Amino acid sequence: MLAPTPAPSQLPAETLTVMGAGLVGCLLALYLAQHGHAVEVFERRPDLRGDAKVEARSINLALSDRGWRALEGVGIADAVREVAIAMRGRMMHGVEGQLTFQPYGQDGQAIYSVSRAGLNRRMLDLVEQQPGIRMQFEQRCQRVDLRNSQLEMRDETTGESRIQPFQRLFGADGAYSAVRGAMQRTDRFNYSQQYLDYGYKELTIAAGPDGSWPIEKHALHIWPRGQYMMIALPNLDGSFNCTLFFPYEGANSFAALQTPAQVRTFFAEHFADAVPLMPDLETEFFANPTSSLVTVRCFPWSHADDVLLLGDASHAIVPFYGQGMNSGFEDCAVLAELLEEHGSDWPRIMRQFETSRKPNTDAMADLAVYNFYEMRDRVADPRFLLQKKIEGR
Ligand code: FAD
Repeated sequence: MLAPTPAPSQLPAETLTVMGAGLVGCLLALYLAQHGHAVEVFERRPDLRGDAKVEARSINLALSDRGWRALEGVGIADAVREVAIAMRGRMMHGVEGQLTFQPYGQDGQAIYSVSRAGLNRRMLDLVEQQPGIRMQFEQRCQRVDLRNSQLEMRDETTGESRIQPFQRLFGADGAYSAVRGAMQRTDRFNYSQQYLDYGYKELTIAAGPDGSWPIEKHALHIWPRGQYMMIALPNLDGSFNCTLFFPYEGANSFAALQTPAQVRTFFAEHFADAVPLMPDLETEFFANPTSSLVTVRCFPWSHADDVLLLGDASHAIVPFYGQGMNSGFEDCAVLAELLEEHGSDWPRIMRQFETSRKPNTDAMADLAVYNFYEMRDRVADPRFLLQKKIEGR
């Protein structure tokens, strides 16, 4: 399934370092190794595959065409399909429980629900099977010395820090990237971060007693309520991962829901059809964290032709367009095309990569914020439903 790696004698002497074994770091490592590079990957967390509790806490992501194409490029789309569920449209839940289905396309087009942890685990397995990649867990990057091409790494199991040289470094270490942190302190590096006044909380719709899906399995469920909304994506075990997007402050907000009784009353009023399916609602509401939503923009994405940012490290977006991971996957596929074209001409590859990707990811960031307002308000508006019908979308 995975592409053969060139014989050791054909391997370039250079070792490429990938920081972060999240979704983008794993895919990037596969692409680089399949191009004949020796790759080392550092990840600050323990190996996800050893902790069953992680899966239970995981959020679900929508995987779309953009992401599938990038997975196909390294031959792992079929392996990922095994842990994905097709969602063929939005299922809108009105306040009175009335349901409206809005298909994503006329020819059965779909996006796919995947558990972040399930997908990450599957990708770690595939990375492990690929010769030429060395993975190291519980290795936190504390500092990047760009001038001397050195990393300060901390071993999370012993607490010891060490200096580790790198030849070429790829920052796939997420929205709060340590690699980008070092670049932010260089001259003429542009950076902005913008938080929404909304946070999100993960909740669960339980599987039916026989492990069946209590609401339509092949849909992305949305409860749009004007100033806030809840969504639910299906899991393989019959349950759904729900996400409540809610203001931090105000009359209906996280700040206003302080007791289990307040939570139950609020949900019974606004999400009445979901409440009977959420047996652990109050417990989860107070046990699960409230997380923030940020857009990160920066440029350039490269430094001195030997450091490059990809995925959320260079373009974190709010989740309402369902394209953060998909764009990060596309980064990997585009980089691989440039490698194909320019061999090891890294200055050229990095320049073309950042200039071609930046307008795309900026557009995605804008669309993501726009889609928040659409999902929250407009999908529930009858005029908009009519407009969609006319457009045949
Ligand atoms: P991450 O997934 O953040 O991975 C970064 C990795 O680097 C992690 O493993 C981390 O432990 C490691 N790391 C971080 N710092 C260090 C360090 N100092 N040293 C070593 N390792 C480090 N996207 C979609 O496409 N579709 C969706 O439906 C979707 N829904 C979303 C819903 C929510 C609520 C949120 C918050 C995001 C959603 N996204 C979605 C976005 C998606 O989750 C991200 O775009 C994607 O996870 C980015 O992948 P990444 O590998 O770049 O970063």
